[in-house]
Order: sequence, then C-alpha cells, then structure tokens
Amino acid sequence: MAQLQRPPFVYMNGQIAAWDDATIHISAEAVIRGISVFEGIKGYWSHDGRQFALLAIQDHYLRLVRSALLQQLPFSMTLENFTEACFSLVRKLLQNGHDMWLRPTLLSVRGNWGADTETDLAITAYQQEMKRPEPIEVGVSTWRRPVDTALPARIKSAANYQIGRFARIEGRRQGFSDMLLLNAWGRVAEATGSCVLMVRDGSISTPPPYEGCLESITVNIVEALCRELGLPFERRPIDRTELMTADEIALAGTLMELGVVRRLESRTLPIETPILARVRSEFWACLRGLRTSPAVVLTPV
Ligand code: PMP
Repeated sequence: MAQLQRPPFVYMNGQIAAWDDATIHISAEAVIRGISVFEGIKGYWSHDGRQFALLAIQDHYLRLVRSALLQQLPFSMTLENFTEACFSLVRKLLQNGHDMWLRPTLLSVRGNWGADTETDLAITAYQQEMKRPEPIEVGVSTWRRPVDTALPARIKSAANYQIGRFARIEGRRQGFSDMLLLNAWGRVAEATGSCVLMVRDGSISTPPPYEGCLESITVNIVEALCRELGLPFERRPIDRTELMTADEIALAGTLMELGVVRRLESRTLPIETPILARVRSEFWACLRGLRTSPAVVLTPV
C-alpha cells in the first residue's frame, strides 16, 4: 500500500522538506479534531517513457478549493502555485518505471474551533506500480455513509474516512479488500476510496453525489469516455438489490482507476466484462498517451 512507503522528501511550509522534519504540533486542530482536507492525484509515465504527467490537476485543485471552503479552512494558493508545488516534489522523487500518487493535504495548523485558523499545504508522494488494477473482492459494510447534514461526503476531509476505516477493518475480517457503503436509505453510496459503477442490460450507471458519494473526477472521465464510445451512462440512485444482480461492477477512483469487481459478498461475477472492458482499455490508452481524448487531461511535469 502506498502509505507504507517512506519517501525521503515531502512538501511543507511552502518548500521541500525532509520526511523526518515534516511534523505538526499535537495541539493543532488537524490532530485533535482531524481537521484537514486533501486530494489524491495520479502521475503517469507515457508508454514510451518520455513524459511524466499529472492527471486532471485542475479538477483536483478545484475540488480542494471547495473542500477547504466547506471545511472553513483558508486556502489562497493559485492553481499555478499549487501545480508548481506538486511538480517540485515530483521532480525530487520521480523514478523511471514507476508512476506516482500524490496526496496534497490542507491542514489546520493553528486556531481553535474554527477561529483564527491558519493552514498549511503539505504534499506527500508515493511510487506506484505501472500496472492496471487487479480484479477485487468486495463486501457490503454495516457502516453507513452519513447524510449531507451530518458528515458531507462532498468534502474530501480526513474525518470522512473514519467510516471507511471502520468498513475496511470489518471487511478485512471477512476477507474482502474493499467494502461498499450504503447510505442512510440503504441504497448504494460508494466504496471506501472510490465510486461504484454498475452495468445492467448494457447500460452503465453510478449513484449521483446526493446519494452520499464524493464528486469523483474519475467518474466524470468515465462518463465522458462512455459518451465518446457511444455507451449509455446514467447517474441515478441504485438499490442494493440492483447491484446484487448487476452484470458487471467496477470501482472508479484516482488510485483504483477502473477496477473490476470479481466478487460482491458471496456472489462471483462473470470474468468477462464486455462493457467495462471497452471503457477500461480506452482509459488506459489515454493515460499512457497511446490515444488522446478531451476527457483525459494530462499536464506534463
Ligand atoms: N469516494 C471516495 C471516498 C474517495 O476517497 C475517492 C478517491 N478520491 C473517490 C470516491 C473517487 O474520487 P476520484 O475519482 O476523484 O479519485
């Protein structure tokens, strides 16, 4: 898992710092109340190894700005400075033959109960294998995605991942590598770090954000690719029983890309995923620069 790596450098306080120097005071609200918002950004090598580029950096920046606004965290960095901060860390850590995953985190470092809040943008980055995700086995958690008026799924905040952590611990005991979360009404919300896509009768659907999922950048990309490929795609509430009888299921997210679900609880799904396979191979070809699409925006470092 990416988080277990210990890269030599991070970005913090506006500059590159050594991993061991990247510390925060125990009284900070980021620590005592878990007040931080973050992004996960993927960087890809092109197929010929000539170019390394970050995927959808502007979309990630805009979502971070919105998360900060909702979490009441001051964040005034421009897109240009944000991009340069990410690039500066990538340049220090980049290795041939490895993609990267960056985690920019906006931390509340001073202030109390939202008064006099001061923030810092810290970025960590980890090496990633250059391979497509393996099919996964998922369960359905007894934990629920909270409603928008309790812990909004729209904010990519550290606190939101408390539920995902509960679910993963529950899932690990049952032998699942990831878990699906239902919403307060028992419909499909999302997985712990990705959104859910389902194919039924040749049509792809995914729950809209008001069902309790993050506004996923990957889902937006998949939707645009489906449109290009002429595949029907809709956003609508999904009952658990629809998912249980789906023809194909995938999880979509920055780290997951488009990961095929091989087993959902006790049901093994067909190995062939004719609809999802088309989107996956198109997505992969675009990520590696073998094809171009306006849906897949790569910014070279
Ligand atoms: N839901 C959750 C809870 C996530 O952590 C992620 C990953 N950021 C996603 C969905 C997928 O979002 P994206 O496609 O923007 O990575």
